[in-house]
Amino acid sequence: MSFRNFKMVDYVVFGRGAFNQLDEILAPRRKADAPMIFLVDHFFQGKPLAERVPLRGKDEIIFADVTYEPKTTQVDALANSLKEKFGTVSGVIGIGGGSTMDLAKAVSLMMNNPGSSADYQGWDLVKQPGVYKAGIPTLSGTGAEVSRTTVLTGPTRKLGMNSDFTPFDQIVLDPELTKDAPVNQRFYTGMDCYIHCIESLEGTYLNEFSKSYGEKALQLCQKVFVDKDYWDDESDDQLMMASYAGGMSIAYSQVGVAHAVSYGLSYLLGTKHGIGNCIVMNYLEEYYPAGVKEFKYMVEKNKIEIPEGICKGLTDEQFDTMINVSLGMKPLWENALGKDWEKIMTREKLRKLYEKL
Ligand code: NAD
Ligand code: ZN
Repeated sequence: MSFRNFKMVDYVVFGRGAFNQLDEILAPRRKADAPMIFLVDHFFQGKPLAERVPLRGKDEIIFADVTYEPKTTQVDALANSLKEKFGTVSGVIGIGGGSTMDLAKAVSLMMNNPGSSADYQGWDLVKQPGVYKAGIPTLSGTGAEVSRTTVLTGPTRKLGMNSDFTPFDQIVLDPELTKDAPVNQRFYTGMDCYIHCIESLEGTYLNEFSKSYGEKALQLCQKVFVDKDYWDDESDDQLMMASYAGGMSIAYSQVGVAHAVSYGLSYLLGTKHGIGNCIVMNYLEEYYPAGVKEFKYMVEKNKIEIPEGICKGLTDEQFDTMINVSLGMKPLWENALGKDWEKIMTREKLRKLYEKL
């Protein structure tokens, strides 16, 4: 038996206003004549946060268009334009939700690895460390700030660049940055964390490491979405730490049924990760009875709309595409249903589930 020896984020700063320390944090990482590139979620264009980015010398802010989740083509275009313009850069700093943080990780890696990011979708295919990279979340829930992957949609699949070179060198956890997130978005991304916890805690890969983080993350999600009747600064603090702990929990286990099914939706229909997981979770009583019951309660209590009927009118071929993408996520199914998962989750059963969504 051999145990996973996984790479973690090197430096973590947590606190309200921690963003103000960014200039100081980056100073020792700057190389002569190579700028820092700040990849900032396009939501912040023209907003006060963009003014607070500590630009020096030839540094640039690039506003990341995250209307769609990150694509390999988008990563390649960004990395190639930076290489053409600057040769190399001192670092890539991602400021935004999971999409922007994933873009920053992938662009950093592609600054030092040849070819297209699509060549590295999979496990441990990245051969060279990227340039210095830092992640600064403005939404809490994905755990992208701590994970060893960056999820990209490529020409043939939606799959991460999973590697020891993928985690950030630094993360800045400043809950103030999540303050103005819209209620629905905050819920969908928050539920990504809740669902990570349920999938990890109910999974066959669970060990005490995952369990300890998963239980803490779940408790924090319950504090903000079940116990409280209002949202305050403490809720932002708690959800940010839930995301961190939830990410740590799946780092040593895996996600499960909701993610495996939601990946199919996202590949075919472009459904976004957070909302896609919620659409699926609504129908997973059979696999996660207690989690789904509580999930439904949170949806109602927080007055959130979960879309229904998104698979109505799809063709057999389209259902097959989703089923192929989903069943391709073998570790997720194995974690959820055990070694014999293929006998449990047949194509027919999965088709029935997709038809309900
Ligand atoms: P997101 O990054 O896709 O952003 C969703 C929307 O919220 C965007 O319109 C964005 O502009 C906006 N936004 C971001 N911060 C805001 C703020 N403070 N106020 C107002 N609006 C804001 O959303 P997400 O749920 O954080 O991330 C989803 C992405 O994360 C997907 O691409 C998914 O594949 C990825 N993901 C990655 C991992 C990983 O381990 N790498 C894990 C889970 C999900
Ligand atoms: Zn997720």
